[in-house]
Amino acid sequence: MSEQQATAVTQSAIAEMAASLPMQDRQDFDDVTRGFVGRSEQRRITADDGRVVWDLDAYDFLRGADAPDTANPSLWRQGQLLIEDGLFEVVPGIYQLRGFDLSVMSVIEGETGVIVIDPLISSETAAAAFALYAEHRGTRPVKAMIYTHSHIDHFGGVKGIITQEQVDAGEVQVVAPEGFLHHAIAENVFAGTAMIRRSGYMYGAALDRGPAGQIGAGLGQTTSTGSASLIAPTLEVRATGETHVIDGVEIVFQVTPGTEAPAEMNFYFPQHRALCTAENTSHTLHNILTIRGAVVRDAHAWAHYLTETIEMWGDQLDVVFASHHWPTWGRERAVEFLAMQRDMYLYLHDQTLRMLNQGYTGPEIAEVLETPPALEAQWHTHGYYGSVSHNVKAIYQRYMGWYDANPANLWPHPPEAGAVRHVAAMGGRDGALAVARQAWDDGDYRWCAEVGKYLVFADATDIEAGALLADAFEQLGFGAENGTWRNAFLAGATELRSGNFGTPVSTTPDILKALSVSQVFDSIAVRIDGPRAWDEYLRVAWRITDEDTTYLIELRNGALHHRTVADAPDDVTTFALTRLSLIGLVTGTLELGTAMADGTVAIDGDPAVLGRLVALLAPVDPDFNIVIP
Ligand SMILES: [Zn+2]
Repeated sequence: MSEQQATAVTQSAIAEMAASLPMQDRQDFDDVTRGFVGRSEQRRITADDGRVVWDLDAYDFLRGADAPDTANPSLWRQGQLLIEDGLFEVVPGIYQLRGFDLSVMSVIEGETGVIVIDPLISSETAAAAFALYAEHRGTRPVKAMIYTHSHIDHFGGVKGIITQEQVDAGEVQVVAPEGFLHHAIAENVFAGTAMIRRSGYMYGAALDRGPAGQIGAGLGQTTSTGSASLIAPTLEVRATGETHVIDGVEIVFQVTPGTEAPAEMNFYFPQHRALCTAENTSHTLHNILTIRGAVVRDAHAWAHYLTETIEMWGDQLDVVFASHHWPTWGRERAVEFLAMQRDMYLYLHDQTLRMLNQGYTGPEIAEVLETPPALEAQWHTHGYYGSVSHNVKAIYQRYMGWYDANPANLWPHPPEAGAVRHVAAMGGRDGALAVARQAWDDGDYRWCAEVGKYLVFADATDIEAGALLADAFEQLGFGAENGTWRNAFLAGATELRSGNFGTPVSTTPDILKALSVSQVFDSIAVRIDGPRAWDEYLRVAWRITDEDTTYLIELRNGALHHRTVADAPDDVTTFALTRLSLIGLVTGTLELGTAMADGTVAIDGDPAVLGRLVALLAPVDPDFNIVIP
């Protein structure tokens, strides 16, 4: 089997699936170009160092082309919609910049300036998008920035549009849901490194674009790779019904914590009869649990809040828009869209619970659960980003955890040890390879991938087995309707064929500046090398001068915990410094010796204790293996 061809089995599976698609429904193609104002002539967006961080023509091969054998036509179609880039008028006074990043930025025109909603991931893409707006609508001052929720594709580009100085001077208000700042960086504190490595699989950033490669991520085409930033909110929205008038524009808010993000909100513009639903609705089935890894979301709360949304504004709505995809116009269509999205999440939730209470496990429910034909007939309920399969398993996980109650699954051998035994049981390496080849010949690529996984985990140097596993992954990717599944399968194939591509993007220091002191100590604690720290005992006090608070950290039994204290104990070394200096020390932008010399850090006691702590920290590995042991 040579690379980059779909087998007859994959082709017929795709054809069978395609026959059920509502291809006659072309409404999305009208909506995605409706209100088009203009397109950016600058097609490649670059960073200061000349590196391309976004290419508006990277997916030109999708334009007007029929889906090839190597792509699911439903996902291909979604990509065609997502690459419609430019400035679009939603209604007079509300504009969107689409196609500039994974997410969409909206601009609301006020009396003297504009309100910007969700400034994309990178400063570079945000600046380029906003420049297109200014080109057509004139240069208007930004009076407010609204972050709909705590995910980086909704705030990372903020410094491409406004500065911290403007915010400090009171020229620009920054509005976000309560808890935004904590949650915006909380994921980086505990599992950030692993999530970012896994994001490379989910978004396919390292994959070639092309008919047999990356064709999108369903929610947007992929993530931009410029510099991410963060400016803290100056106004936190706490309650549903809260109303603010900004630059003459009235905005009514609905807080929706624990939906698509832990801190998220919808809001309504009465003067425009327009509703922004953040990321609580989109033109895809969204994730209850994203495959890059995350804390599982609450499908039940998600549905509940959408019911509330419809109750609040369903009778006074001309358009609903969000921070991904294109708007839906007309009251009837908009309400039906909201209701269908709500029904989808609630159906998945309730039916998973029904079956779980009948004794089915996550993988069993995921395999058989069908969505109602009326939902199947909608494009926006299809799983381009989330999938019924992995969402159902996520709902099971939320309620029941990883264990399915079968004791055989309570204490199995871990992957490598298990792989060796599986391979031995299949008659050794040659026997197992024959099983995998038979699965390939049968077109059972799921089984081929499973047996291939055992072979590679039993012997990572087995080139033949690795090649077969890569081929199986590739066929699974070609057939997938879900963009993140396709990316994950093709990423696995790519790493098996040409080695580990590592982590294409890294966390930006600017965002880490928003860490709270408590989050800083948590981030240190999860890097303590447990066994090396078993016999260590140490305490350090930290007086955070700009917060007038003293923290005591204590390491015992390999666990580093922290708490605030009224005064540092006499026998403990105290470091006095600002919160930002503490972050500088931890992230390596500030060197302790220099900081002590110039008075940035004042020390009372023996500073050597810090060296003992630092010596116990283990490095993270942003390039860990995934498809090989
Ligand atoms: Zn988003």
